[in-house]
Amino acid sequence: MKSVKNVAYTIGKTLGGVKVLKYLARNHPRILMYHRIRATAEGDGIHVDVFRQQMEVLARDFNVVSLESLLQLAHNNQPLPQHAVVITFDDGYEDFYLNAFPILQSLALPATVFVTTGFVSDETWLWPDKIKYMLAESQIDNLLVPELNQTFTLSRDKLLAWHGIADYCLTIPNKQKNPFINELAIKLGVTLPVSAPDMYKPLNWDEVKAMSASGIDIGSHSVTHPVMTKLELADLRDELENSKLTIEQMLNKPVTGFCFPNGLSEDINEEVQGEINRAGYQYALAAFPTLNPLADRWAVGRYPANPDISEFEKIVYGFRMQRLSN
Ligand SMILES: [Zn+2]
Repeated sequence: MKSVKNVAYTIGKTLGGVKVLKYLARNHPRILMYHRIRATAEGDGIHVDVFRQQMEVLARDFNVVSLESLLQLAHNNQPLPQHAVVITFDDGYEDFYLNAFPILQSLALPATVFVTTGFVSDETWLWPDKIKYMLAESQIDNLLVPELNQTFTLSRDKLLAWHGIADYCLTIPNKQKNPFINELAIKLGVTLPVSAPDMYKPLNWDEVKAMSASGIDIGSHSVTHPVMTKLELADLRDELENSKLTIEQMLNKPVTGFCFPNGLSEDINEEVQGEINRAGYQYALAAFPTLNPLADRWAVGRYPANPDISEFEKIVYGFRMQRLSN
């Protein structure tokens, strides 16, 4: 059943209310958070044709600005451009280079990519992908996870198992996470490859360098994509400092932005924000939208991108902002 608000959106759209909503949201920068853009019919992320359609809407109807320029204006208390939209990408998958970058270039849209440096350096791959991979490859059917006090029937409940296990991993100290995942691999009878399999492949540094030279901004998304609040202090500092240093050495440019892995409110706290500042960053991005996204530069609010074009329109034309203000 449609919610009352969805019905209101549909009516608003047919009556030209979108223009009113857009006007009301003119001073609310919409910072969009994307992850993966796929060229295949099935798989993780948003299909490249849908992404192109979304970018064409932005190029036509909005003022797409770089995150850096928007933050600089906010920092200097200068007026922000109206109808501002910012495009950001997390993680550093190669599909950004293959599928998203050509579209952004053809429409001359700025974007910032937050890379997980250990992933791009091929030293690790993203742990939620490891769990997904193990569950897909395993030949066993009944998986008992004592930590969850739950048995999953994998022929039926792979997605459920993935969500349960990944959610559990978000809650435990990071030092426990890797041993847990390694034990899971043994239990599932799967050998984890050292490098990411093709479907989870990262950008490489040549691609990052080429994009940086073409105007794509690059920020840090840590070294290994841990939940930052689950790290011991020394590891927290390593994740912040080493990722920044690696990108700076590779690109010969200062890195000013950090993007929280996972980035929900429970993954952010003042201690971590203080350490981000201490490591020399100038801002940090969260993974949830806020009414005043630039009010806290250590938790800049973002809208998760949506593959559904009407959901996308609700975000960019300001309907979602109305809900944030309620
Ligand atoms: Zn991420």
